[in-house]
Amino acid sequence: MTGESESCFDGVDVGVLRDALTSWYREGHREFPWRETTDPYEILVSEVMSQQTQLGRVVDAWEAFLAHWPTAEALAAADRADVVAFWSSHSLGYNNRAKYLHEAATQITTEYGGEFPREPDELTDLMGVGPYTANAVASFAFNNGDAVVDTNVKRVLYRVFEAVRTADDPDYETGANALMPAGESRIWNNAIMELGGVACQKNPQCDETECPWREWCHAYKTGDFTAPDIPTQPAFDGSRRQFRGRIVRVLSAHDELPLDTLGHRIRVDYTPDGEHGREWLLDLLSDLSGEGLVQVGEENDEQVARLGTVSDD
Ligand code: SF4
Repeated sequence: MTGESESCFDGVDVGVLRDALTSWYREGHREFPWRETTDPYEILVSEVMSQQTQLGRVVDAWEAFLAHWPTAEALAAADRADVVAFWSSHSLGYNNRAKYLHEAATQITTEYGGEFPREPDELTDLMGVGPYTANAVASFAFNNGDAVVDTNVKRVLYRVFEAVRTADDPDYETGANALMPAGESRIWNNAIMELGGVACQKNPQCDETECPWREWCHAYKTGDFTAPDIPTQPAFDGSRRQFRGRIVRVLSAHDELPLDTLGHRIRVDYTPDGEHGREWLLDLLSDLSGEGLVQVGEENDEQVARLGTVSDD
């Protein structure tokens, strides 16, 4: 995935990409209580619960579970039937997960003296803990994991980097780990998973969420928002309709804008005479004008666009 040097991705300095994403994450992200803790037991419970349940619904169940069994020792001492009954009554998916969690708590108590192992490989020795969950616990509890590579992260990498999109068999793991700042798996994995879950969804919310990678994102530049899990263009239309939306949003913040200024605001690869240039922009504006949303006029010998049907008097 790397470009001309180890520190570049598609020609962009990796430090710039990292800073942009972590700043975006720090400035505002969804607040989940397990993001406020570094207790490996609490994090393990949240990870196991999230495997089959939407995050919003996990919050209540997670808090109730920890109120019943606040530590691995408490869970290990519980009657397994009670744990399974809790799982069912909170609609948390397969009951086996409750049994495995109970078993893992027993292992921690009896085999590890109450201390969680810190390495992803060791964590997979716990019952029901696969590589993904082990890495999540190592990252969020101990800041000691590798880069998470799940469906959301793959979608982000595929959309942002042309080199990933065009590879015959993209090596997501290597790329994701090269992107992650060394020793910062806690914030990095939280940030890139947030990007995939909030901004780079199946129907991407690039502008709405102020995605920090728009400037470099291949999908954003080209309007092609397909991804490994989205083989055809998302239903909302990633190109024409999206750019029309951007025009309206940008113009709503200005009385009027010269065409080229507008072009640069809605598209980072806008060049007046290029493929996505003035002609392309005028075509979109003509659609919007036909719907009465935008008017194109002249001001000081240059073409300008404004919202609505504006009189020239
Ligand atoms: S700009 Fe859009 S497509 Fe690109 S990473 Fe951000 S949200 Fe995803």
